[in-house]
Amino acid sequence: MYSESAQADSVSENDPVSEKLWEIRRRLTAEYGSLISFLNYGAPFELLIGVILSAQTTDIQVNAVTPKLFARFPDAAALAAAPRSEVEEIIKSTGFYRSKAAHIQGAAVALVRKYHSEVPQSMSELTSLPGVGRKSANVVRSHVFGLPAIIVDTHFGRVMRRLGIGRAKNADALERELLTIIPDELQTPLSMLVNKHGRVVCQARSPRCSACVLMDLCDYAKRELEPPA
Ligand code: SF4
Repeated sequence: MYSESAQADSVSENDPVSEKLWEIRRRLTAEYGSLISFLNYGAPFELLIGVILSAQTTDIQVNAVTPKLFARFPDAAALAAAPRSEVEEIIKSTGFYRSKAAHIQGAAVALVRKYHSEVPQSMSELTSLPGVGRKSANVVRSHVFGLPAIIVDTHFGRVMRRLGIGRAKNADALERELLTIIPDELQTPLSMLVNKHGRVVCQARSPRCSACVLMDLCDYAKRELEPPA
């Protein structure tokens, strides 16, 4: 049933949830490809700062300001020592710019003082940085360190609940729930693919179910679109 033999080997015939997860990955990879990224970055430091800036705004807004920010302050030491007013001016269009400036400079100071100007790897170290929650930490852990991570944002959470994979509404609770369901090797790719699907097809107010490649796998579609028996 599955095109990737290595994946098929890890699917138990008696595990319909695992089979469904692999099938979702297969179909969404066919739709969007396997290289999905939302934030533009070079060094790990840039991704860390980007995810802090992405709170309450779009990745497009973040990508619009980070080239100037990193050209002016290219590493943790430079950003830590930057005039606050200059940082605020550069990132202003991302919204909440005063608190975000404080967060990114606070994170830069912590990197310099505690981590030899490197981005740390552990969840506890990352979430100790200003402005970094579990979602942001999981983005860094998966993209920088190649670790399995379930990245729960509003798009991912909505689509997974509609698909009937996970029920929790709170992001941290949903991550905990899904950690018991999604195998390590699927966590990061599914996070990115399902997130993308939520942005372009399974939108919050009006999911485009008739155009969705997951329709036959989706609890929401079965519930909302099929006529009662
Ligand atoms: S069928 Fe509809 S609700 Fe289900 S994943 Fe697709 S767009 Fe979302």
